[in-house]
Amino acid sequence: MDNSTASSHRPTNSSAKPAERNVIAVSHTVSVAERATRYGHVGAVIWLTGLSASGKSTMAMALERALFARSWSTYVLDGDNLRHGLNADLGFSPKDRSENVRRIGRVAALFADAGQICISACISPFQEDRAAARTAAQPHRFIEIHVSADLNTCEGRDPKGLYRKARSGSLPGFTGIDSPYEVPHQPDLVLNTQANDIATCLRTLETLVVAQCQVR
Ligand code: ADP
Repeated sequence: MDNSTASSHRPTNSSAKPAERNVIAVSHTVSVAERATRYGHVGAVIWLTGLSASGKSTMAMALERALFARSWSTYVLDGDNLRHGLNADLGFSPKDRSENVRRIGRVAALFADAGQICISACISPFQEDRAAARTAAQPHRFIEIHVSADLNTCEGRDPKGLYRKARSGSLPGFTGIDSPYEVPHQPDLVLNTQANDIATCLRTLETLVVAQCQVR
């Protein structure tokens, strides 16, 4: 298990407020409303959370394709993909998982501020970290989706063979096995991928996103 701490990845003076570090924010001249008019939708973060193999990446990519087909401006931040680059220095200790989600939340907020529909697909197991991502997205919309399937179902799917490795002991700290997953208290939507097929889940998801984000 990676025992490195998130704090080791941050600049030493990061606890000081930006203004105390002489970092002053600059205002954009293109407004939120102008971007929404240009794209036909507001910027937003669609946050998919759930166990490994619950269907986050599948649904994120399907939603991206569906929104793109509507000429919407959208991009998926996939947790696994980001661990190849932006988050390559992070492991799976609780602190590193929190830092992973903090960074994804911040990047997603930037996408939303740019007027995009940013779809995040990462386990994000801790309630506190998801709440921080919601705060980071303000004033933009943050739609939390619990991609839900029980552990048996996820383990039966095991598309990457990770549960098998976790059960054999070669992958310690695996969410749902020996690392916790905190179920969202009040998600905007529970997408049950166990009881519904991919097409049905996509319809539900797309309907919600369009209703919440389209500019009429
Ligand atoms: P995650 O990103 O949550 O780890 P993945 O999307 O990579 O999960 O894998 C989920 C697996 O479950 C895929 O093989 C997908 O085809 C399958 N699956 C079966 N039914 C569904 C459904 N209704 N929604 C999403 N995925 C489903």
